[in-house]
Amino acid sequence: MRRSQVATPYLPERIDGLFEIATNLAWSWDREARALFRLLDRPLWHLTRHNPLAQLRTVDPGRLAACARDPKFLQLYDHVLANLRATGSNAFTWWARTQPGLDGRPIAYFCAEFGLHNSVPIYSGGLGVLAGDHCKACSDLGVPLVAVGLLYTQGYFDQRIRLDGWQEDTDERFDPVQAPLEPLLGSGGEPYLAVVRTAGRPIHIGVWRMRVGRVPIYLLDTNLEENDPADRALASRLYAGGPEMRLRQEWVLGVGGVRVLRAVKLDPGAWHANEGHASFMLVERVRELVAAGVPYDEACRRVRGTSLFTTHTPVPAGHDAFSLEQVEACTGPVWEEMGIDRAAFMRLGYIPTRDHGQFHMPALAMRLSGHANGVSKPHGAESRRIWRDLWPGRRTAEIPIGHVTNGVHLATWMSHRMMALLDNHLGADWGNLLEDPAAWAKVLTLDDEVLWFVHKELKAILIHFVREQARRRWADEWKEAAHVVGAGTLLDPDVLTIGFGRRFATYKRSTLIFRDLDRLRKLLVDPWRPVQIIFSGKAHPEDEPGKKMLQEVYQFSRDPQLEGRVAFLEDYELHLAHRMVQGVDLWLNLPRPPMEACGTSGMKAALNAVPQLSTLDGWWFEGYDGLNGWAIKAGTEGVDEDAWDAGELYRLLEDEVVPLFYERDAQGVPLGWVAKMKHALKSVGERFTAHRMIQEYVRGYYLPALRSEGAGDDPPTA
Ligand SMILES: *Cc1c(COP(=O)(O)O)cnc(C)c1O
Repeated sequence: MRRSQVATPYLPERIDGLFEIATNLAWSWDREARALFRLLDRPLWHLTRHNPLAQLRTVDPGRLAACARDPKFLQLYDHVLANLRATGSNAFTWWARTQPGLDGRPIAYFCAEFGLHNSVPIYSGGLGVLAGDHCKACSDLGVPLVAVGLLYTQGYFDQRIRLDGWQEDTDERFDPVQAPLEPLLGSGGEPYLAVVRTAGRPIHIGVWRMRVGRVPIYLLDTNLEENDPADRALASRLYAGGPEMRLRQEWVLGVGGVRVLRAVKLDPGAWHANEGHASFMLVERVRELVAAGVPYDEACRRVRGTSLFTTHTPVPAGHDAFSLEQVEACTGPVWEEMGIDRAAFMRLGYIPTRDHGQFHMPALAMRLSGHANGVSKPHGAESRRIWRDLWPGRRTAEIPIGHVTNGVHLATWMSHRMMALLDNHLGADWGNLLEDPAAWAKVLTLDDEVLWFVHKELKAILIHFVREQARRRWADEWKEAAHVVGAGTLLDPDVLTIGFGRRFATYKRSTLIFRDLDRLRKLLVDPWRPVQIIFSGKAHPEDEPGKKMLQEVYQFSRDPQLEGRVAFLEDYELHLAHRMVQGVDLWLNLPRPPMEACGTSGMKAALNAVPQLSTLDGWWFEGYDGLNGWAIKAGTEGVDEDAWDAGELYRLLEDEVVPLFYERDAQGVPLGWVAKMKHALKSVGERFTAHRMIQEYVRGYYLPALRSEGAGDDPPTA
């Protein structure tokens, strides 16, 4: 890859702004921009999986010339381009209206992964998608966020399932030159913007800027000729390559990220570390201040006053920790530049009651951030319990960790058909009502038949998509009918369809529904009121128990006893996730409480009026209101949790879910079910959008930091 080679596709002059539109990911949630690319070449739009840049590089020049003369195309084009250029100004945003008079310093947001669109595969799952939604909502609201992440040229991994159901992890190289990324050069024209020392040698850091509406994301890239081959490889894969490699990636993200922001002349007034991977950002800022002559304690106080740490993992084993030797090998004697000794530095990552040979990244983050939060109400409480050892002598309830419940980006996750329905019902400017939760009550008066019709269309799109995927795979390599069936070809658009799309981590219990196979089978193959289930999800490449669980589900999908009522779809990523959350009838979520930090896919489903059935964990603990879906309530102390939850799941399906779905009026509309759908939509619109989440971050954390009022909570005392 040569950075200078970023080719602009040939475009007729009248429509050469298409490149500008395609290189700002704002198109990905702008309905009109999407309509424009669909109009440009509908089959290509479909074949590129909605990737305008790929589309512009392959579209027939004759087609471009025709569009450049087509008044209908040009009208839409002019409108989309004008809108995009108008986002250059913040004047009419929520931020501009509510926060006048701030001095314009941005908020820096650091995260190891960003999930914005399937054409930029630099995310592995929930954390990345959340970070992507965070940036999009900040753009909408005009919040001056600048984000920092890492570029991975092999992304995460593509999932292929072997015929025996074992997951294979394949790479699909991703070429940044083909993605909506803009390479930045150093002030002297060199291909790097910063240099970081690690393992005793310098790493040069190149930068790609990705535009997400108003928000820039600076993606750091170490794959430069200037670097040692071992360091070039840091930019290849997400969460792979063992602890030393991950540690160095985190060092590049944290230290390199701060230096890159300095190189592009940004001076953030608030700093947000999203998960422990980003914690070294705090260390670098302390080092900067000490280098400028500020004493260490005062430097820490200032960094704490302007920093927020968000934790996403409720399992201690899921937190990043490294041995002290690994840390020293990576960082070198950075403590000398911070004005402290090695022992004091290592103590920043210390947890008194845990393994003393380890350096814990979240502990570092909590010592150097004035605020910390979990991502749902129960996860806040669980985090206070997990981290209480850092504040010995305090009661758990007094541990200074709060929560901001995650939310999802409406324009990304709500289908266009559903939006069009709301245009008609709430008025075309309902998007502006997002800041007024009361407006959502009106969705309860949507016409039942119309809402049901829209849902049926979305379900048909999902089933069509599933069959097309299966058709291709069959033609390519499958020879046995079982595989074609298991990929969902026998799915029936009239049957109650349950969706289960998530990572195959054991606590998510994707096999729980198979616990009593006879009872499940009765539900699935009932001749009058059958049920079908669509599964999808990846297991972490190193998670053997997760892969085993996946294999089990895969084999059930090929089991003739279940008559084609269970499907497993390969390679769960954003595009497929969209299809699933928009098209199923019911979203199923079975985490073992309190292991789910938040869980956002149920919110995405609800934005499409798809109700959820879930254990009362993560956001559902706050979100379930008795009307918008179903909840599996905890059994009494001492019962076998899995047995209890499975029993409750079957009972709810048999007694409530299935009867409600199949109870129809004279027009064939399930009125009781549609009522659940409306409540699902209302409750998520009111309380679980990313806009609400960002407003909470702004009011609770970003503003106090920007106004320099943010002294922060009491630091850990241990
Ligand atoms: C939303 C999403 C996730 C996270 O879903 P959870 O409900 O938190 O498990 C993971 N992967 C993709 C592709 C998503 O869109």
